[in-house]
Amino acid sequence: MKFNPADQIQDLQYFGEFGGVNPSISDSSTYTFLSAKTMFDTFEGNAEGCYLYSRHSSPSNLYLGEALAAMEGTEAANVAASGMGAITPVLLQLCQSGDHIVSSRTIYGGTYAFLKNFAPRLNISTSFVDITNLEKVEAAVTSETKVLYCEAVSNPLLEVADIEALSRIAKKHNLQLVVDNTFSPLAISPGKLGADVVIHSLTKFINGSSDTVGGVTCGSQEFINSLRSVNDGASMLLGPTMDSLRAASILKNLRTLHIRIKQHSKNALYLAEKFEADGLKTVYPGLKSHPSHELYKAMMNEEYGFGGMLTIDAGSIDKANALMEMMQENNLGYLAVSLGFYKTLFSAPGSSTSSEIPEEEQKEMGLSDGLIRFSIGLDNDIHRTYEMMKSCMLKLDVL
Ligand SMILES: *Cc1c(COP(=O)(O)O)cnc(C)c1O
Repeated sequence: MKFNPADQIQDLQYFGEFGGVNPSISDSSTYTFLSAKTMFDTFEGNAEGCYLYSRHSSPSNLYLGEALAAMEGTEAANVAASGMGAITPVLLQLCQSGDHIVSSRTIYGGTYAFLKNFAPRLNISTSFVDITNLEKVEAAVTSETKVLYCEAVSNPLLEVADIEALSRIAKKHNLQLVVDNTFSPLAISPGKLGADVVIHSLTKFINGSSDTVGGVTCGSQEFINSLRSVNDGASMLLGPTMDSLRAASILKNLRTLHIRIKQHSKNALYLAEKFEADGLKTVYPGLKSHPSHELYKAMMNEEYGFGGMLTIDAGSIDKANALMEMMQENNLGYLAVSLGFYKTLFSAPGSSTSSEIPEEEQKEMGLSDGLIRFSIGLDNDIHRTYEMMKSCMLKLDVL
């Protein structure tokens, strides 16, 4: 049967300590042992099911990790305090001084800043490439390259990575393919398409209520164990640990992710088609005009659609700002960064989330001044929302 990530989550069954329908929250940083020998074995990683100290693992964090591993179809997962708290330990675990990374040039601003400005301090260098140009990707690989890094659907330009083709390049050159799947949970399963490591910022769609930050790394048991190693694991030693209370609340939200993603996708497709028909420059992977529409279709778990993210070009930064302010005044959404909320969020990436990227490079990659990034919400009547958005656009001469 075809892999369906939501079914994998649904099949997991947990009970609380007193028969509760939700697992009990582990409210402890440290754990007792009946024998000193078991404590020693746990330190050595040889006591399955025993907990030692909550920076290493806790029952609540393991439940959430298990559910996310099931969702991505990987052996194991490790949750983190934020998306960046998942990304940076992965890169530092896979690379050491002298190593090289080939990365997509259109990635989350924080990841870009880490690779561009921080990793060089540790003598780890990065070549940024157009990830949709497979020849350029392969040409950037050197004998020092250890990691091929990309986002399944990129931020903010919604470029789509050909994960199977990238995985062939990675295997040929003995690289680890690391894919950030934050924009396309459920819809794309990078681990099933050949990615070695799949990362999410849980802050976005997966938690979905914009009340916490969180992250996860999904991969082989061996790699997840290495991240958690008390001797040299980057997650263990850098300490980006998620709190157990948060892990429990994110796990509950994960249970409704499939319903939310379908609604986000349905609403975003509706608006994208309308905006494009109105003559706005619209980017959405679900539109036939999107350069990677067919590729996305070939990779997707169909019922989850093309995701909740779209961009339009309002023509100039002034028009973009005026439109966002007017839409907010009309309660159509919030002028805010981040994504995956039940309400629509919009921002101008050039001057916000992607401002780490120098202006010249922004131009080169097609990140225009007037670009507005939308994370479309769970609106009940999306046609009504469209009519209200259109009236703002007409008033401001955007249309
Ligand atoms: C938000 C985001 C991150 C960073 O996650 P945080 O939870 O904010 O640390 C990484 N990648 C992508 C694609 C994101 O959207």
